[in-house]
Amino acid sequence: MTLEQRKKAFEFIDLHKDEMLCLLKELVTTESDTRNKNSVDNLAQKLKEILCSIGMNTRIVEYKNSGNSIVAESASNKCKKGVILSGHMDTVFKKGTLENMPFKIENDKIYGPGVLDMKGGIIIALYVIKALNSIEYNERPIKVIISGDEETGHCNSKCNELFINESKGFGAAFNFETGFLDNGVIVGRKGVAEFSLEIEGISAHAGNSPEKGRSAIQEMAYKIIDIQNLNNLKNGTTFNVGTITGGTVPNAIPDYAKIEIDVRYTKLSEKSSIENTLQSIASKTYIEGTKSKLKVKSYMPPMETTDDVMKLFEFAKKTSAEIGLGDIYSKTTGGGSDASYIVTAGVPALCAMGVKGEWNHTPREYGIVESLFERAKLIIACILNLDEYLK
Ligand SMILES: [Zn+2]
Repeated sequence: MTLEQRKKAFEFIDLHKDEMLCLLKELVTTESDTRNKNSVDNLAQKLKEILCSIGMNTRIVEYKNSGNSIVAESASNKCKKGVILSGHMDTVFKKGTLENMPFKIENDKIYGPGVLDMKGGIIIALYVIKALNSIEYNERPIKVIISGDEETGHCNSKCNELFINESKGFGAAFNFETGFLDNGVIVGRKGVAEFSLEIEGISAHAGNSPEKGRSAIQEMAYKIIDIQNLNNLKNGTTFNVGTITGGTVPNAIPDYAKIEIDVRYTKLSEKSSIENTLQSIASKTYIEGTKSKLKVKSYMPPMETTDDVMKLFEFAKKTSAEIGLGDIYSKTTGGGSDASYIVTAGVPALCAMGVKGEWNHTPREYGIVESLFERAKLIIACILNLDEYLK
C-alpha cells in the first residue's frame, strides 16, 4: 500500500458522506423484521442489486423458513488470503415500527429501526468496497456475508454452517455489529447452549393418597440445585435455569415439570463436558419412580479469543492510532454473534466494528453519524495494510 492510495480512498469516503446517509435511509426504511421472511427477502434482493452494481459476484442463499442470506465475492486473481466483511440485515423491529420510530438525523445522531444493529454496518461494508474500487484495489479477495436471521439465532436455517463454510481459508474478518461508544472492540464472545429438562412423575390426590404419588416438581427441585451449583463465574461457564413449568392444581401430586437452561461458555472444547454433566444430573434419580429427559435445544459456539484474534486486534489498534482515530481497546461479552462461526472456521475476526451508538433493540436506538465514516476509514486502512498483519 502507498500512503497516496490510502489518502485517495479516504477522500472517496469524505466525498460520499451524504450518499452514505442517503443509502442508509433507504436500508432503514426497507424494514426487515427477523420474523417476517418476505420483508428480509425484499431487502436481500435490494442489497444483491447494490453489491452487483459495485462489481461483486453476488448470490442469495435461500432458506424456506427464515430470511435469506447473501454471499458476495470480489473478482480478484491474487492468491493472497482474503478479507471477510460480515453482518446481518434483519432487525428485531416489527414491520410498521417506522411509523413511530422514523429515520431521522438530529444533532449528529441517526435514528430509526436497525440503524445501529446493524444497517449502519452494512453501509460501512459497502463503502469500504466502493472506496477500494475507486483506487482499483485488487490485492486480496473480499467476501461479504450478510445473514437474514441473526436476531433469531439462525434457528430455522443453516446459516451458521454457511458462515463456517464460506469463511474457511480467509485471512481476517470484520463483523459490523453495533459499535461501542467507548471504542471497545469485541475479541471474544461466549458460546450459548440451551437445554430443556422434562420430568415425569406419578400423579395422586394430595389429601387421599399422597403416598401413591411421585412428585415431578420435587425431583426437579433437587436437580435445579445441582444445575445451579455448576456455575463457575471464575472461568466464565454459567448455568441458568431460566424457566420453570409444571403441576396442574395445588391438591394433586404433580406428574410433570419442565425447565429450560441457558449455558454460557468460553471454550469450544467445553461443549461435550457441559452436555455430559447435565446428562449425568438428568440420569440421577432422587425420587424413585420419576423419569427425566434432557434435550439439547440449540448450540452457538463461542467466539474464542485466540492468539490470532488478539494479533488482529493489536494490528487494528495500531492502525486506528496511526490514522488519528484514537485507541481502540479489546473487550469480551456474554452474548453471541456471527463472528463466533467465523472464528470457529479458523479465521481471526473482530466484532462490533459497525456504527457506534447505544440502545439497540429499543425505540431509543441511535448511531453516531461520524462513526459511519471513521469506521469505514479504519477498515480501509486495515485492508490496505493487511500485509503487515498477514506476513
Ligand atoms: Zn446485530
